[in-house]
Amino acid sequence: MIRSPENLLPTMAERILQWAEIEPSPIVREIIVAVKCHNEREFQRWCQGSKTSSDLRSIDRRCVSLLYQSLKLTIYSAEHLTSLQIAAQSGLYPYWRLWVNTQFCVGHKSLNNFVARFDSGIWEFIYPPNGWVCGCSVTVIDTNDPLAAGSKNLVVTDKLKHQCVNWLDRKPIRQWLLMR
Ligand SMILES: [Zn+2]
Repeated sequence: MIRSPENLLPTMAERILQWAEIEPSPIVREIIVAVKCHNEREFQRWCQGSKTSSDLRSIDRRCVSLLYQSLKLTIYSAEHLTSLQIAAQSGLYPYWRLWVNTQFCVGHKSLNNFVARFDSGIWEFIYPPNGWVCGCSVTVIDTNDPLAAGSKNLVVTDKLKHQCVNWLDRKPIRQWLLMR
């Protein structure tokens, strides 16, 4: 069962809010809307405004920046999942390829060009984003692509499941510095 776009977004948002020690549940949807509607500077102002929680007002500007960039990518990834699923269900593109953005996703590098069928359980674990400012993305490939043929005997091991899930393993401030 792959993460559905409706669940992916709040789940990912909650993970990064928990890291920032913000009590997520009452405000997660508000924050998602704020990220969708604002540029980064406006979002900074929104976080400091009187309508948000005191938790959110007290976080460091650098963390707000990371929060904003990470959530932007999460929103994109969740929306992209919908189009991937439509393409897969049409039967034309049943294989998905993970493309790894190596600037921010050094930890995900070994999975570059990873291919599995769209209905493989592995996507539940490695569909991006999988880290702070994770810029990995998924594209479709043709059934005749040699990469698709190579994925047919894929065994989903625990090691594979955890290979990409390092959302909190990396130091957030280090990721922030990479963005500058
Ligand atoms: Zn990544």
